[in-house]
Amino acid sequence: MPTISFAQFRNAGVRFGTPLVLAALMLVSLESVLAVFAQYQELLLVLPYVLLGLVILLSQPFNQGKTALTALMMVIAFYVIQTYLQSPQSNPQTRLIYLLLATLLPLNLLQVHILPERRLFSRFGTGYLLFLGVQLGWGALVVNHFAEHPLPELWDNHFFTLKSLSPLPILLLLLYLGSSLACGSAVLKRNQSHDQAIFTCLLFAGITFATFQQAYISAVAFSVTGLLLLLNLISCSHELAYIDPLTGIPGRRALETELKHLGRNYTLAMVDVDHFKAFNDTYGHKIGDDVLRLVARKMQKIKGGAEVYRYGGEEFTVLFKGKEKAQCLPYLENLRETIADYEMALRQYDSRDDKDQQGAAKRGKKATKDTVQVTVSIGVADSFPDTHPTAVMKAADEALYQAKQAGRNQIAS
Ligand code: GH3
Ligand code: MG
Ligand code: MG
Repeated sequence: MPTISFAQFRNAGVRFGTPLVLAALMLVSLESVLAVFAQYQELLLVLPYVLLGLVILLSQPFNQGKTALTALMMVIAFYVIQTYLQSPQSNPQTRLIYLLLATLLPLNLLQVHILPERRLFSRFGTGYLLFLGVQLGWGALVVNHFAEHPLPELWDNHFFTLKSLSPLPILLLLLYLGSSLACGSAVLKRNQSHDQAIFTCLLFAGITFATFQQAYISAVAFSVTGLLLLLNLISCSHELAYIDPLTGIPGRRALETELKHLGRNYTLAMVDVDHFKAFNDTYGHKIGDDVLRLVARKMQKIKGGAEVYRYGGEEFTVLFKGKEKAQCLPYLENLRETIADYEMALRQYDSRDDKDQQGAAKRGKKATKDTVQVTVSIGVADSFPDTHPTAVMKAADEALYQAKQAGRNQIAS
Protein backbone atom coordinates (compact mmCIF):
# COMPACT_ATOMS: atom_id res chain seq x y z
CA MET A 1 0.00 0.00 0.00
CA PRO A 2 1.68 3.23 -1.15
CA THR A 3 0.64 5.55 1.67
CA ILE A 4 2.39 3.51 4.36
CA SER A 5 5.64 2.54 2.66
CA PHE A 6 6.39 5.95 1.17
CA ALA A 7 5.31 7.84 4.27
CA GLN A 8 8.50 6.54 5.88
CA PHE A 9 10.73 8.14 3.23
CA ARG A 10 9.34 11.53 4.14
CA ASN A 11 10.15 11.22 7.82
CA ALA A 12 12.86 13.76 8.76
CA GLY A 13 14.87 11.21 10.74
CA VAL A 14 14.80 8.75 7.84
CA ARG A 15 15.79 11.50 5.39
CA PHE A 16 18.75 12.33 7.60
CA GLY A 17 19.69 8.78 8.59
CA THR A 18 19.48 6.97 5.23
CA PRO A 19 22.46 8.74 3.59
CA LEU A 20 24.52 8.25 6.78
CA VAL A 21 23.73 4.55 7.00
CA LEU A 22 24.41 4.02 3.29
CA ALA A 23 27.68 5.93 3.56
CA ALA A 24 28.80 3.73 6.44
CA LEU A 25 27.71 0.59 4.58
CA MET A 26 29.56 1.74 1.47
CA LEU A 27 32.79 2.29 3.38
CA VAL A 28 32.56 -1.07 5.13
CA SER A 29 31.61 -3.09 2.07
CA LEU A 30 33.51 -1.24 -0.66
CA GLU A 31 35.80 -4.19 -1.37
CA SER A 32 32.96 -6.69 -1.73
CA VAL A 33 31.04 -4.24 -3.96
CA LEU A 34 34.09 -3.88 -6.18
CA ALA A 35 34.52 -7.65 -6.26
CA VAL A 36 30.93 -7.99 -7.50
CA PHE A 37 31.54 -5.35 -10.16
CA ALA A 38 35.00 -6.72 -11.06
CA GLN A 39 33.82 -7.88 -14.49
CA TYR A 40 31.64 -4.84 -15.07
CA GLN A 41 34.01 -2.03 -14.25
CA GLU A 42 32.92 -0.11 -17.33
CA LEU A 43 29.34 -0.28 -16.15
CA LEU A 44 30.36 1.06 -12.76
CA LEU A 45 31.94 4.05 -14.49
CA VAL A 46 28.80 4.99 -16.44
CA LEU A 47 26.35 4.29 -13.60
CA PRO A 48 26.75 7.74 -11.97
CA TYR A 49 26.04 9.46 -15.31
CA VAL A 50 22.92 7.35 -15.88
CA LEU A 51 21.50 7.78 -12.38
CA LEU A 52 22.33 11.46 -11.97
CA GLY A 53 21.16 12.16 -15.54
CA LEU A 54 17.81 10.58 -14.71
CA VAL A 55 17.62 12.77 -11.62
CA ILE A 56 18.18 15.92 -13.70
CA LEU A 57 15.47 14.93 -16.21
CA LEU A 58 12.92 13.92 -13.58
CA SER A 59 13.54 17.01 -11.46
CA GLN A 60 11.99 19.28 -14.05
CA PRO A 61 8.37 18.01 -13.98
CA PHE A 62 8.47 17.88 -10.18
CA ASN A 63 9.85 21.41 -9.91
CA GLN A 64 12.90 20.26 -7.98
CA GLY A 65 15.37 22.77 -9.39
CA LYS A 66 17.75 22.50 -6.44
CA THR A 67 17.93 18.74 -6.77
CA ALA A 68 18.57 19.10 -10.51
CA LEU A 69 21.37 21.60 -9.91
CA THR A 70 23.06 19.46 -7.27
CA ALA A 71 22.83 16.42 -9.57
CA LEU A 72 24.33 18.44 -12.41
CA MET A 73 27.23 19.53 -10.20
CA MET A 74 27.86 15.92 -9.25
CA VAL A 75 27.88 14.91 -12.93
CA ILE A 76 30.45 17.61 -13.72
CA ALA A 77 32.55 16.64 -10.69
CA PHE A 78 32.45 12.97 -11.69
CA TYR A 79 33.49 13.85 -15.23
CA VAL A 80 36.45 15.89 -13.95
CA ILE A 81 37.46 13.07 -11.61
CA GLN A 82 37.33 10.46 -14.36
CA THR A 83 39.03 12.63 -16.97
CA TYR A 84 41.72 14.51 -15.06
CA LEU A 85 42.23 12.83 -11.71
CA GLN A 86 43.22 9.29 -12.61
CA SER A 87 46.95 9.90 -12.23
CA PRO A 88 48.80 9.96 -8.88
CA GLN A 89 48.61 13.14 -6.85
CA SER A 90 52.40 13.38 -6.80
CA ASN A 91 51.80 15.02 -10.18
CA PRO A 92 51.39 18.72 -9.24
CA GLN A 93 48.78 19.35 -11.93
CA THR A 94 46.60 16.46 -10.75
CA ARG A 95 46.98 17.70 -7.20
CA LEU A 96 45.93 21.21 -8.24
CA ILE A 97 42.81 20.02 -10.09
CA TYR A 98 41.92 17.78 -7.14
CA LEU A 99 42.15 20.69 -4.71
CA LEU A 100 40.22 23.07 -6.98
CA LEU A 101 37.41 20.58 -7.49
CA ALA A 102 37.28 19.54 -3.84
CA THR A 103 36.92 23.23 -2.87
CA LEU A 104 34.51 24.46 -5.55
CA LEU A 105 32.04 21.57 -5.28
CA PRO A 106 31.00 22.06 -1.62
CA LEU A 107 30.95 25.86 -2.01
CA ASN A 108 28.57 25.53 -4.96
CA LEU A 109 26.42 22.98 -3.13
CA LEU A 110 26.18 25.34 -0.16
CA GLN A 111 25.19 28.14 -2.49
CA VAL A 112 22.31 26.06 -3.88
CA HIS A 113 21.31 25.33 -0.29
CA ILE A 114 20.98 29.06 0.38
CA LEU A 115 19.35 30.06 -2.93
CA PRO A 116 15.57 29.94 -3.40
CA GLU A 117 13.97 26.97 -5.15
CA ARG A 118 13.72 27.54 -8.93
CA ARG A 119 13.46 25.35 -11.98
CA LEU A 120 16.68 24.37 -13.73
CA PHE A 121 15.23 25.13 -17.17
CA SER A 122 14.37 28.75 -16.45
CA ARG A 123 16.08 32.14 -16.61
CA PHE A 124 17.44 31.62 -13.13
CA GLY A 125 18.67 28.16 -14.12
CA THR A 126 20.37 29.51 -17.23
CA GLY A 127 22.06 32.18 -15.11
CA TYR A 128 23.34 29.56 -12.72
CA LEU A 129 24.56 27.35 -15.56
CA LEU A 130 26.50 30.33 -16.90
CA PHE A 131 27.99 30.86 -13.45
CA LEU A 132 29.06 27.19 -13.35
CA GLY A 133 30.55 27.61 -16.83
CA VAL A 134 32.54 30.63 -15.68
CA GLN A 135 33.95 28.64 -12.75
CA LEU A 136 34.93 25.77 -15.04
CA GLY A 137 36.58 28.20 -17.45
CA TRP A 138 38.42 29.90 -14.61
CA GLY A 139 39.53 26.52 -13.26
CA ALA A 140 40.83 25.55 -16.71
CA LEU A 141 42.76 28.83 -16.97
CA VAL A 142 44.33 28.35 -13.54
CA VAL A 143 45.35 24.79 -14.37
CA ASN A 144 46.77 25.80 -17.77
CA HIS A 145 48.66 28.71 -16.26
CA PHE A 146 50.40 26.52 -13.72
CA ALA A 147 51.14 23.90 -16.35
CA GLU A 148 53.28 26.50 -18.11
CA HIS A 149 54.65 28.14 -14.96
CA PRO A 150 55.13 25.23 -12.58
CA LEU A 151 54.17 25.78 -8.96
CA PRO A 152 57.01 25.74 -6.43
CA GLU A 153 57.57 22.30 -4.92
CA LEU A 154 56.25 23.17 -1.50
CA TRP A 155 53.11 25.15 -2.38
CA ASP A 156 50.84 22.35 -1.17
CA ASN A 157 52.25 22.56 2.36
CA HIS A 158 50.24 25.71 2.99
CA PHE A 159 47.09 23.61 2.98
CA PHE A 160 48.07 21.55 6.04
CA THR A 161 47.42 18.07 4.79
CA LEU A 162 47.88 15.10 7.11
CA LYS A 163 48.88 12.60 4.41
CA SER A 164 48.51 9.66 6.79
CA LEU A 165 44.89 10.68 7.46
CA SER A 166 43.66 11.77 4.06
CA PRO A 167 44.88 13.45 0.86
CA LEU A 168 42.31 16.14 1.59
CA PRO A 169 43.70 19.16 3.51
CA ILE A 170 42.41 19.60 7.06
CA LEU A 171 40.68 22.86 6.11
CA LEU A 172 38.66 21.12 3.38
CA LEU A 173 37.87 18.17 5.66
CA LEU A 174 36.43 20.71 8.09
CA LEU A 175 34.51 22.41 5.27
CA TYR A 176 32.85 19.11 4.32
CA LEU A 177 32.16 18.24 7.93
CA GLY A 178 30.69 21.67 8.75
CA SER A 179 28.59 21.97 5.61
CA SER A 180 27.28 18.40 5.96
CA LEU A 181 26.32 19.13 9.55
CA ALA A 182 24.60 22.39 8.57
CA CYS A 183 22.60 20.76 5.75
CA GLY A 184 21.94 17.67 7.86
CA SER A 185 20.43 19.78 10.62
CA ALA A 186 18.34 21.60 7.99
CA VAL A 187 16.98 18.18 6.96
CA LEU A 188 16.04 17.45 10.57
CA LYS A 189 14.53 20.89 11.11
CA ARG A 190 12.71 21.62 7.83
CA ASN A 191 12.35 18.07 6.49
CA GLN A 192 12.56 19.13 2.86
CA SER A 193 13.65 16.89 0.04
CA HIS A 194 16.06 19.38 -1.54
CA ASP A 195 17.90 19.76 1.77
CA GLN A 196 18.33 16.00 1.77
CA ALA A 197 19.65 16.12 -1.81
CA ILE A 198 22.35 18.65 -0.89
CA PHE A 199 23.17 16.86 2.36
CA THR A 200 23.61 13.59 0.44
CA CYS A 201 25.87 15.19 -2.18
CA LEU A 202 28.05 16.90 0.43
CA LEU A 203 28.38 13.71 2.45
CA PHE A 204 29.32 11.46 -0.46
CA ALA A 205 31.52 14.05 -2.18
CA GLY A 206 33.32 14.56 1.14
CA ILE A 207 33.87 10.82 1.55
CA THR A 208 35.09 10.55 -2.04
CA PHE A 209 37.70 13.28 -1.72
CA ALA A 210 38.73 12.24 1.79
CA THR A 211 39.39 8.63 0.71
CA PHE A 212 40.46 9.43 -2.82
CA GLN A 213 43.29 6.89 -2.87
CA GLN A 214 40.74 4.04 -2.84
CA ALA A 215 40.12 2.65 -6.29
CA TYR A 216 36.63 3.29 -7.69
CA ILE A 217 35.51 5.23 -4.62
CA SER A 218 34.13 8.03 -6.81
CA ALA A 219 32.17 5.64 -9.06
CA VAL A 220 30.57 3.88 -6.10
CA ALA A 221 29.94 7.02 -4.02
CA PHE A 222 28.48 8.99 -6.94
CA SER A 223 26.28 6.02 -7.93
CA VAL A 224 24.90 5.77 -4.40
CA THR A 225 24.29 9.53 -4.47
CA GLY A 226 22.38 9.17 -7.76
CA LEU A 227 20.30 6.35 -6.28
CA LEU A 228 19.47 8.36 -3.16
CA LEU A 229 18.51 11.42 -5.21
CA LEU A 230 16.26 9.23 -7.38
CA LEU A 231 14.58 7.76 -4.31
CA ASN A 232 14.18 11.27 -2.98
CA LEU A 233 12.45 12.36 -6.23
CA ILE A 234 10.16 9.35 -6.25
CA SER A 235 9.07 10.04 -2.69
CA CYS A 236 8.55 13.68 -3.70
CA SER A 237 6.31 12.77 -6.60
CA HIS A 238 4.42 10.39 -4.37
CA GLU A 239 3.94 13.17 -1.85
CA LEU A 240 2.70 15.57 -4.55
CA ALA A 241 0.13 13.04 -5.70
CA TYR A 242 -1.10 11.54 -2.46
CA ILE A 243 -0.45 13.87 0.45
CA ASP A 244 -2.65 16.78 1.37
CA PRO A 245 -0.31 19.79 1.65
CA LEU A 246 -2.22 21.56 4.42
CA THR A 247 -2.52 18.74 6.92
CA GLY A 248 0.24 16.39 5.78
CA ILE A 249 -2.10 13.39 5.83
CA PRO A 250 -3.14 11.38 2.73
CA GLY A 251 -5.59 13.28 0.55
CA ARG A 252 -8.51 12.53 -1.72
CA ARG A 253 -6.45 10.82 -4.43
CA ALA A 254 -4.91 8.44 -1.90
CA LEU A 255 -8.41 7.59 -0.66
CA GLU A 256 -9.71 6.98 -4.17
CA THR A 257 -6.77 4.70 -4.93
CA GLU A 258 -7.37 2.82 -1.70
CA LEU A 259 -11.10 2.41 -2.38
CA LYS A 260 -10.25 0.49 -5.56
CA HIS A 261 -8.35 -2.13 -3.59
CA LEU A 262 -10.75 -2.86 -0.77
CA GLY A 263 -11.91 -6.29 0.35
CA ARG A 264 -15.55 -7.13 1.04
CA ASN A 265 -15.53 -6.14 4.67
CA TYR A 266 -14.84 -2.54 5.66
CA THR A 267 -16.34 0.51 7.34
CA LEU A 268 -16.19 4.12 6.16
CA ALA A 269 -16.78 7.19 8.30
CA MET A 270 -17.18 10.75 7.04
CA VAL A 271 -16.06 13.32 9.61
CA ASP A 272 -17.10 16.96 9.14
CA VAL A 273 -16.12 19.91 11.34
CA ASP A 274 -19.21 21.67 12.69
CA HIS A 275 -20.02 25.28 11.82
CA PHE A 276 -16.59 25.73 10.28
CA LYS A 277 -17.66 28.52 7.99
CA ALA A 278 -18.69 30.55 11.02
CA PHE A 279 -15.42 29.61 12.71
CA ASN A 280 -13.46 30.99 9.77
CA ASP A 281 -15.56 34.15 9.78
CA THR A 282 -14.80 34.67 13.46
CA TYR A 283 -11.12 33.79 13.65
CA GLY A 284 -9.89 34.11 10.09
CA HIS A 285 -8.71 31.55 7.57
CA LYS A 286 -5.22 31.11 8.98
CA ILE A 287 -6.50 29.99 12.35
CA GLY A 288 -9.05 27.90 10.47
CA ASP A 289 -6.11 26.20 8.72
CA ASP A 290 -4.34 25.63 12.03
CA VAL A 291 -7.47 24.01 13.41
CA LEU A 292 -7.71 21.70 10.39
CA ARG A 293 -4.10 20.66 11.00
CA LEU A 294 -4.81 19.99 14.65
CA VAL A 295 -7.96 18.01 13.85
CA ALA A 296 -5.94 15.96 11.34
CA ARG A 297 -3.30 15.27 13.99
CA LYS A 298 -5.95 14.12 16.47
CA MET A 299 -7.53 11.97 13.80
CA GLN A 300 -4.25 10.23 13.04
CA LYS A 301 -4.21 8.97 16.62
CA ILE A 302 -7.46 7.07 16.16
CA LYS A 303 -7.19 3.43 17.26
CA GLY A 304 -8.51 0.28 15.63
CA GLY A 305 -6.10 0.22 12.69
CA ALA A 306 -7.97 2.98 10.89
CA GLU A 307 -6.57 5.01 8.00
CA VAL A 308 -7.37 8.70 7.88
CA TYR A 309 -7.70 10.90 4.79
CA ARG A 310 -8.57 14.52 4.16
CA TYR A 311 -11.52 14.22 1.84
CA GLY A 312 -11.58 17.94 1.06
CA GLY A 313 -12.33 21.22 2.84
CA GLU A 314 -13.18 20.48 6.48
CA GLU A 315 -14.19 16.89 5.74
CA PHE A 316 -12.15 13.82 6.58
CA THR A 317 -12.65 10.14 5.86
CA VAL A 318 -11.78 7.28 8.19
CA LEU A 319 -11.39 3.82 6.71
CA PHE A 320 -11.49 0.64 8.80
CA LYS A 321 -10.54 -2.42 6.80
CA GLY A 322 -11.89 -5.81 7.86
CA LYS A 323 -14.24 -4.31 10.41
CA GLU A 324 -18.01 -3.94 10.69
CA LYS A 325 -19.74 -0.76 11.76
CA ALA A 326 -20.43 -1.93 15.32
CA GLN A 327 -16.74 -2.69 15.89
CA CYS A 328 -15.70 0.80 14.78
CA LEU A 329 -18.21 2.91 16.70
CA PRO A 330 -16.24 2.95 19.99
CA TYR A 331 -13.10 4.24 18.22
CA LEU A 332 -15.11 6.93 16.43
CA GLU A 333 -16.89 7.93 19.61
CA ASN A 334 -13.51 8.25 21.26
CA LEU A 335 -12.31 10.43 18.37
CA ARG A 336 -15.38 12.68 18.56
CA GLU A 337 -14.87 13.17 22.31
CA THR A 338 -11.14 13.79 22.00
CA ILE A 339 -11.70 16.55 19.46
CA ALA A 340 -14.58 18.13 21.37
CA ASP A 341 -12.56 18.16 24.62
CA TYR A 342 -9.38 19.48 23.08
CA GLU A 343 -8.60 23.11 23.79
CA MET A 344 -6.53 24.34 20.87
CA ALA A 345 -4.14 27.15 21.66
CA LEU A 346 -4.34 29.90 19.05
CA ARG A 347 -1.24 31.10 17.31
CA GLN A 348 -0.84 34.85 17.17
CA TYR A 349 -1.00 36.25 13.66
CA ASP A 350 -0.23 39.73 12.48
CA SER A 351 -3.60 41.45 12.20
CA ARG A 352 -2.57 43.00 8.87
CA ASP A 353 -2.55 39.49 7.42
CA ASP A 354 -6.19 39.09 8.14
CA LYS A 355 -9.10 41.26 7.16
CA ASP A 356 -11.33 39.88 9.82
CA GLN A 357 -12.00 42.59 12.41
CA GLN A 358 -13.21 40.45 15.27
CA GLY A 359 -10.30 38.06 14.93
CA ALA A 360 -7.85 40.94 14.73
CA ALA A 361 -9.26 42.48 17.89
CA LYS A 362 -8.90 39.17 19.71
CA ARG A 363 -5.33 38.77 18.58
CA GLY A 364 -4.57 42.31 19.69
CA LYS A 365 -4.72 41.09 23.28
CA LYS A 366 -1.38 39.36 23.07
CA ALA A 367 -1.02 38.43 26.74
CA THR A 368 -4.17 36.30 26.86
CA LYS A 369 -3.81 32.65 26.07
CA ASP A 370 -6.57 32.20 23.53
CA THR A 371 -7.93 28.74 23.05
CA VAL A 372 -10.69 27.48 20.83
CA GLN A 373 -12.69 24.28 20.63
CA VAL A 374 -14.38 22.67 17.67
CA THR A 375 -16.67 19.70 17.36
CA VAL A 376 -17.16 17.20 14.58
CA SER A 377 -20.13 15.25 13.30
CA ILE A 378 -19.58 11.74 11.98
CA GLY A 379 -21.56 9.57 9.58
CA VAL A 380 -20.73 5.87 9.44
CA ALA A 381 -21.58 3.08 7.01
CA ASP A 382 -20.15 -0.36 6.33
CA SER A 383 -19.98 -2.68 3.35
CA PHE A 384 -23.15 -4.62 4.26
CA PRO A 385 -25.30 -5.16 2.29
CA ASP A 386 -23.65 -3.32 -0.64
CA THR A 387 -19.87 -3.70 -0.87
CA HIS A 388 -19.40 -1.06 -3.59
CA PRO A 389 -17.41 1.91 -2.21
CA THR A 390 -19.64 4.48 -3.97
CA ALA A 391 -22.68 3.07 -2.20
CA VAL A 392 -20.92 2.90 1.18
CA MET A 393 -19.66 6.45 0.76
CA LYS A 394 -23.16 7.66 -0.10
CA ALA A 395 -24.60 5.90 2.96
CA ALA A 396 -21.90 7.48 5.18
CA ASP A 397 -22.73 10.89 3.71
CA GLU A 398 -26.41 10.42 4.41
CA ALA A 399 -25.61 9.39 7.97
CA LEU A 400 -23.45 12.50 8.34
CA TYR A 401 -26.39 14.63 7.20
CA GLN A 402 -28.51 13.01 9.89
CA ALA A 403 -25.87 13.70 12.54
CA LYS A 404 -25.90 17.38 11.50
CA GLN A 405 -29.71 17.52 11.54
CA ALA A 406 -29.82 15.94 14.99
CA GLY A 407 -27.74 18.81 16.42
CA ARG A 408 -24.06 18.09 15.45
CA ASN A 409 -21.18 16.85 17.68
CA GLN A 410 -22.47 13.30 17.34
CA ILE A 411 -22.26 10.09 15.36
CA ALA A 412 -25.01 8.69 13.13
CA SER A 413 -24.99 5.37 11.33
P1 GH3 B 1 -21.76 22.35 9.12
O1 GH3 B 1 -21.75 22.28 10.60
O2 GH3 B 1 -23.11 22.12 8.54
O3 GH3 B 1 -20.76 21.43 8.52
O4 GH3 B 1 -21.36 23.82 8.73
P2 GH3 B 1 -20.03 24.29 8.06
O5 GH3 B 1 -19.97 25.78 8.17
O6 GH3 B 1 -18.89 23.55 8.65
O7 GH3 B 1 -20.21 23.79 6.57
P3 GH3 B 1 -20.03 24.50 5.18
O8 GH3 B 1 -19.91 23.37 4.19
O9 GH3 B 1 -21.13 25.49 4.95
O10 GH3 B 1 -18.70 25.28 5.26
C1 GH3 B 1 -17.47 24.66 5.22
C2 GH3 B 1 -16.45 25.74 5.41
O11 GH3 B 1 -15.15 25.18 5.57
C3 GH3 B 1 -16.34 26.66 4.24
C4 GH3 B 1 -14.92 27.11 4.24
O12 GH3 B 1 -14.82 28.41 4.71
C5 GH3 B 1 -14.24 26.17 5.23
N1 GH3 B 1 -13.07 25.55 4.65
C6 GH3 B 1 -13.01 24.59 3.70
N2 GH3 B 1 -11.73 24.28 3.41
C7 GH3 B 1 -10.96 25.06 4.20
C8 GH3 B 1 -9.55 25.23 4.35
O13 GH3 B 1 -8.72 24.56 3.72
N3 GH3 B 1 -9.11 26.14 5.26
C9 GH3 B 1 -10.00 26.88 6.00
N4 GH3 B 1 -9.50 27.76 6.86
N5 GH3 B 1 -11.31 26.76 5.86
C10 GH3 B 1 -11.80 25.88 4.98
MG1 MG C 1 -18.67 20.16 4.97
MG1 MG D 1 -18.73 21.49 8.34
